This record gives sequence, C-alpha cells and structure tokens, in this order.
Amino acid sequence: MRYILFFLLFLIMVPMLRGVLGVLAKLLMNWAMGSSSKEPARRGPSAPPPAPSGATTLHKDPVCGAYVSEAVAVSCREGNQTLWFCSTACLDKYRKNA
Ligand SMILES: [Zn+2]
Repeated sequence: MRYILFFLLFLIMVPMLRGVLGVLAKLLMNWAMGSSSKEPARRGPSAPPPAPSGATTLHKDPVCGAYVSEAVAVSCREGNQTLWFCSTACLDKYRKNA
C-alpha cells in the first residue's frame, strides 16, 4: 500500500514541479529578453551626442550685422582673428570693401 501512495504522490508532484519549472523558465526568459532589449535602448539615446542648437557660439557678421552660429557661418581668417559671415556674398562684400 505504501508504494501505491508514494506512486500517487509522485504522479501529483511531477506536474506540479513541471508547472513550477515552467514558470521559472518563463521568468528567466522574460528577464533575459528584457535585459537584452533594454540595454541597447538605454545606450541608444545616450550614444549620439545631443545636437546643441543654442550651445554653438554666435558671431556677428561685420557686413550685414547678422548673428551666425559657427556651424553654418562662413569663416575668414584676418591676421590673427577669425571673421564670420552669414554667407559667401557677405564675405565677398567685405573683401571688396577692405
Ligand atoms: Zn551677412
């Protein structure tokens, strides 16, 4: 009789263990999937440097008086100072006047 009870207990325990293992496996999969998908997402926004729109230095165009940022300005070295123009047209004007 004891063996039959043991066998019945075993029959009950196996699906339970399987269920527990299945849940654990799912949790592990979610954790592995979650951590692998989150890591590039976390790196993504920090990897490219944020484009500084207002952080660039502004220079005054000596011809038309417009303020232009270094990123788009036309630069011209005059002696030991650099002059910045909003366009090549302004640079040409400056050179003709000078
Ligand atoms: Zn200009």
